[in-house]
Amino acid sequence: MLEQIVSKEYGKGLSQCSDKEIYRALLELVQEKAAAGERMTGKKKLYYISAEFLIGKLLSNNLINLGIYDEVAEELKRAGKDLAVYEEREPEPSLGNGGLGRLAACFLDSIATLGLPGDGVGLNYHYGLFRQRFKNFRQKEEPNPWIEEDSWLIRSKRSFTVAFGKFEVPAVMYDILVTGYDNGTNRLHLFDLESVDESLVTRGIDFDKAQIEKNLTLFLYPDDSDEAGRLLRVYQQYFMVSCGAQLILEEARERGSDLHDLADYAAVQINDTHPSMVIPELIRLLTAEGIQWDEAVKIVTDTCAYTNHTILAEALEKWPMAFLEEAAPAIVPVIQRLDQEIKKKYNDPAVAIIDKEDRVHMANMDMHYGHSVNGVAYLHTEILKNNELNDFYKLYPEKFNNKTNGITFRRWLIHCNRELTDFLTETIGSGFKKDAGELEKLLKYKEDDRVLDRLIEIKKANKHRLALYLKETQGIELNEDSIFDIQIKRLHEYKRQQLNALYAIHKYREIRKGKKPARPITLIFGAKAAPAYTIAKDIIHLILCLQELIQNDPEVSPYLRVVMVENYNVTQAEKLIPACDISEQISLASKEASGTGNMKFMLNGAVTLGTEDGANVEIHELVGDDNIYAFGEDSDTVIARYKNGYCSRDYYEWNKDLKKAVNFIIGKKLLKIGSRKHLLNLYNELIAKDWFMTFPDFNAYIETKERAYADYEDSRAWAQKMLVNIAKAGYFSSDRTIEEYNRDIWKL
Ligand SMILES: *Cc1c(COP(=O)(O)O)cnc(C)c1O
Repeated sequence: MLEQIVSKEYGKGLSQCSDKEIYRALLELVQEKAAAGERMTGKKKLYYISAEFLIGKLLSNNLINLGIYDEVAEELKRAGKDLAVYEEREPEPSLGNGGLGRLAACFLDSIATLGLPGDGVGLNYHYGLFRQRFKNFRQKEEPNPWIEEDSWLIRSKRSFTVAFGKFEVPAVMYDILVTGYDNGTNRLHLFDLESVDESLVTRGIDFDKAQIEKNLTLFLYPDDSDEAGRLLRVYQQYFMVSCGAQLILEEARERGSDLHDLADYAAVQINDTHPSMVIPELIRLLTAEGIQWDEAVKIVTDTCAYTNHTILAEALEKWPMAFLEEAAPAIVPVIQRLDQEIKKKYNDPAVAIIDKEDRVHMANMDMHYGHSVNGVAYLHTEILKNNELNDFYKLYPEKFNNKTNGITFRRWLIHCNRELTDFLTETIGSGFKKDAGELEKLLKYKEDDRVLDRLIEIKKANKHRLALYLKETQGIELNEDSIFDIQIKRLHEYKRQQLNALYAIHKYREIRKGKKPARPITLIFGAKAAPAYTIAKDIIHLILCLQELIQNDPEVSPYLRVVMVENYNVTQAEKLIPACDISEQISLASKEASGTGNMKFMLNGAVTLGTEDGANVEIHELVGDDNIYAFGEDSDTVIARYKNGYCSRDYYEWNKDLKKAVNFIIGKKLLKIGSRKHLLNLYNELIAKDWFMTFPDFNAYIETKERAYADYEDSRAWAQKMLVNIAKAGYFSSDRTIEEYNRDIWKL
């Protein structure tokens, strides 16, 4: 296949080609095959609108989905080339922060795999989020340029105009082909501006936020600690949805819609509140086409559905009307009229769209004027219904539904863990690749020593592979015989990396006192912090200081290591997850909407150490008490404590171990390495506030973690836990999630 392409393009054989030529030929091959899979079945099409699509590298996934991975690898091998070289060479686009963006990417894979007509709609950020570097034990941000001359982006012929308050811009649309596994191809549409000027970026990720025409799609969510940053976000959001809405109407018409029947031609899923302005924008466009107001509102409501991703109040966007007047004046009268209708109908400030301070509550607009509101895990949806969004649930009980998140097994098993995939195929057949539920067939082998031994061997091999990778790319040396205990996710106080760091301090002190663990422990972290999130950055600082301290302490380092990988992203997740023994999912109960990292780990045979939060609750239910380490206070207790008041200092004063661990943060040892200012800031935050309640869970965490480490020493029993986790992971395939979205919401 490749020989033909290079012979046509360069007039030579594969073995004579440069790496650049081969890489280009690989892209061409995939694009050709993927485009051949495009088809539009049925008249209704889904538009999944999201400010983020954390797609990861695409080459190997596309080869797998097109069913040509082995063939291409073989062909390259015959020419003396190694596919892995080109897989590594591909830059990773960072078009997302974390779970929310990664979910959107998994969904696109499953939508295509199920053969559903559904495209993604988003923005083409030139520098993505940011690239993380560590310097002086601190996070530094740099641009992540990912768009190369040879890339997956295809410039489309469609173009749109978007009118902001002070000027208009011409939009360009780029497409990335989305291949389904052994099925058709869909598209991810990424809108962009021709006039964006990358030279605007000065130091790190700083740039002139006022020059919208030049900066609009430079970065994903630029620093929003100031007003200019927040205003730019509104510009980005309106640009995205205005282009999206125009595309939706244009395509619906092409398929034969007269727009009165739009809801029969299009389903719009609003991924969190960032794309919420698509509702007023669609209403505006429909009324401009001569459709009466009431009818336009009904059409749009029947078309749009909203997914809520968080109960953290600060994440429910509220935009000052003044921002909308500047960035999106055309929809201001629409939003005002929608708000008036709601105020007239319900006369309740709690459900208003515009509040007394003239701020627009995006989620409220979605709930009134969308036909579906879903949470992303059972517990999360229950909390939305009964607490956070209870006022709306009482108005529209029929709109609320749960769609527990999922992950694509193509990336998170077949691609990232070939050895396990091959072994599973040998053992239970290949049916699980299309029907994840078939993984349960593995349960039959729970007493089979040969199978259990193989699971252990595969884990060992993956730990070895990770060790080589981290040594080569980051100069980090791992002890492959140690327990790999991994916490990788965005840095956020509610995810409680600080609790894990307190454990590291506790363990360090124990080892210094002579209590050595049965087996060495490696605590692995990976996390980016939002550039303006001070405490999150201070937690990174603490972890990096601990890494340094322990590494250089010959008394402790043979037994305990703390490792923080730089620039945690999808590529690194794909290497870390298959190598994990213990999956840290320790968010404060009620705060993690679902989590999807937890599912990836489970699928790869890691055992969860977690709170009863998000999808951990469902994992627990599936695997049973023996195959998970659950600890900590439950969500009801936590919610009650927020109501009744929480005083972290009380716990600090009464719990001696805890007090010593917390004091260690500003003790001599760490101050020798780190910055007094940042460590003191974190220390004060913990004893004076500890808003995410690490202290009440401290003892339970330590006890449970120690129990897990002790159990690990019985390797047969541990392998059985691995086996049950893998076997029960089928429920978390995003194919299942997408089938539910389609059955209940989209009806394609
Ligand atoms: C899956 C994934 C996440 C989400 O992880 P959680 O543990 O669910 O927060 C974040 N970042 C990357 C790169 C991922 O692959």
